[in-house]
Amino acid sequence: MQFQTKWVPEMKIEREQALLMHRQRFGRAGKIFAAPARVNLIGEHTDYTGGFVMPMAIDFKTVAVVSAREDGRAVFYSANYNEDVELEIDSLERAPGGGWSDYPVGVVWSLRQEGVAVGGFNLSLTGDVPLGAGLSSSASVEVVTAMALLSHAGMDLPLERVATLCRRAENEYVGAKSGIMDQFASAGCVANRMMLLDCRSLAYEQLPLPVAERVVICNSMVKHAVATGEYGDRSSEVEAGQAVLQRERPGVKLLRDATLEDLEACRDLMSAASFKRCRHVITENRRVMEARKALLAGDMDRFGALMVEAHVSFRDDFAASCEEVDVLVAIAMQQEECFGARITGGGFGGCTVNVVRAEAAERFVATVRREYSGKTGIDADCFVCKPADGAFALAKNDGGY
Ligand code: ADP
Ligand code: MG
Repeated sequence: MQFQTKWVPEMKIEREQALLMHRQRFGRAGKIFAAPARVNLIGEHTDYTGGFVMPMAIDFKTVAVVSAREDGRAVFYSANYNEDVELEIDSLERAPGGGWSDYPVGVVWSLRQEGVAVGGFNLSLTGDVPLGAGLSSSASVEVVTAMALLSHAGMDLPLERVATLCRRAENEYVGAKSGIMDQFASAGCVANRMMLLDCRSLAYEQLPLPVAERVVICNSMVKHAVATGEYGDRSSEVEAGQAVLQRERPGVKLLRDATLEDLEACRDLMSAASFKRCRHVITENRRVMEARKALLAGDMDRFGALMVEAHVSFRDDFAASCEEVDVLVAIAMQQEECFGARITGGGFGGCTVNVVRAEAAERFVATVRREYSGKTGIDADCFVCKPADGAFALAKNDGGY
């Protein structure tokens, strides 16, 4: 894909600091790239069964600087962990070590599977994406690493392949179950647009968010753990239900193809848990398509109502919310400037996403923080966001690297 190269005045200092850090550490000037975090507006746990999602990129980024080395080695440094990890590229095998470097190393492994010859390099990472908050710092690391290393290899791949190879790094190298949404959004989103992505065909559409609206993310500060936690259990329950539907209902290749009637017909053939998880996914896919219509019609009341329905389905059928997150949603929905609120991300904590009138966004944040702290004793981090651009190379103001 042709990643855009752009000069971002707000990132002038970050850019200079990242380049300086790289030069001091590795004695070489490097090229610099950025990939954003994302938030999903609606369409939760639909991606790995070929359904629909509606993410947008947000203004938190992981930045990577890459430079060449002549000894065939890969050296990774993360400023967030203040640690480096080194390996010989030609003898790289699938051997995750359990730490942060599995993400970028997994991308090297995945690129090699894709036939990209990666020569020796230094790669330094830094960024402001909150880690493990459900905003997909993991995908931003994967995508920025892939971009940097493709540039290093003098190669270009289409968006679909970049996202797919990054997902493979996360699923098969790191060993975390996840769909294609995060990587696709981090690589392909566009400023001022939500992305509607069909996770089976990878067809996508960029939809407008009215300029008078903001997306507010509220972090419950309750930690989820994708690699080891219940995300795995939930997706297994969904996949078990999907397997029954595939077997029993002709035409159902993925859960995405199933209707509620199909599911009802198979109720006794699957566990009660699988039934409910699948019901969430089937109704959620419908809600995403309804949300698309609402956006195109500029009907934010309808969009917000769909978010709330999605939250209820996630809480009751998917059984993957938690008390603190439900409190956050309830507080949000009492504010008249808020159109809709729901949990976002894998579940069991993490963040809520809220669509709020722009001029009242700061007031909304102040109220939510105050009331949430009063009810739970926890200080929530809240971010007022607009849809941002996906991954890009950071230009100097004269247009070069
Ligand atoms: P999320 O994607 O919601 O932030 P994950 O658990 O999927 O949570 O991914 C977080 C992990 O990604 C971190 O624990 C770390 O291993 C890796 N990671 C994210 N950002 C960085 C970074 N800047 N440097 C190194 N590793 C990172
Ligand atoms: Mg992640």
